[in-house]
Amino acid sequence: QNTSTSFFWTDMVSLKKRAKFSHKGTFGHALLAVGSYGSIGAAVLSAKACLRSGVGLLTTYIPACGYEIMQSSVPEAMCQTDPAEKELSVCPDLEKYTVIGIGCGLGKSEKTKAFLNVLLRQVKSPLVLDADALNIMAEEADMLALIPAKSVLTPHPKELQRLIGTWENDFEKLEKVKVFSQKYNCIVLVKGMHTAVVLPNQEVHFNSTGNPGMATGGSGDVLTGIITALIAQGYSSEEAAIIGVFKHGEAGDIASQERGQMAMLPSDIIDKLRW
Ligand code: AMP
Ligand code: MG
Repeated sequence: QNTSTSFFWTDMVSLKKRAKFSHKGTFGHALLAVGSYGSIGAAVLSAKACLRSGVGLLTTYIPACGYEIMQSSVPEAMCQTDPAEKELSVCPDLEKYTVIGIGCGLGKSEKTKAFLNVLLRQVKSPLVLDADALNIMAEEADMLALIPAKSVLTPHPKELQRLIGTWENDFEKLEKVKVFSQKYNCIVLVKGMHTAVVLPNQEVHFNSTGNPGMATGGSGDVLTGIITALIAQGYSSEEAAIIGVFKHGEAGDIASQERGQMAMLPSDIIDKLRW
């Protein structure tokens, strides 16, 4: 098998310096289509992480019930609401966005499935696909074929299983992910300790940062925000996935040093992001 592995993202990619004469337009306009009734926190975490990762402008697209929560907890983000109170149901105009991250706290209602279907048919650029966006797609096989090239998929183990089926061991899992990545021309993460970033060219990059303190609800929403921000700033999807996973784990390691693994929260990961 033509598989190359790398443990050090710094061998591969480096961060761009922010040009002195840059402005917010230089760093892209991200859209995060996230949240449902009872999961607006996931939307807030992804939005905060996106803003802490250098995006120029961020719009969140959330159900109407999340409007005041988002506007008061993330004043830096613009907020557009869906006509539905509790879920995303209508695809907004996507023209002006550099990149779209979708899925955190989304839920899987019939209206949201229809929303995702329309969005996948309209969008032309790579997406960051997480959580219930992946769960919905795993249930509707024809939706997988709509994944835009070079999208980044960020499943946790259960979500991954829904996408690729079960595996006997880690080697078989990785082989199955590589097949999926090549078939759909997308970047797939295998999240957990030493998250693997699997590229369509069949390279696999293992991450060296992170700790079990990150094994708590909300950590993945933070990662989605980070990767979305990096693509908005002009990093390729491959670079954004590799750098994002590394910095997410690095911030998690700083948070665990300060708070301990049991006390740290995904909000602390956001707080410890340094670029
Ligand atoms: P999610 O399950 O979607 O919230 O994602 C969890 C995030 O936390 C992923 O980025 C995982 O890589 C990370 N994570 C979870 N458990 C661990 C662990 N034991 N060690 C390192 N990172 C972890
Ligand atoms: Mg998740």
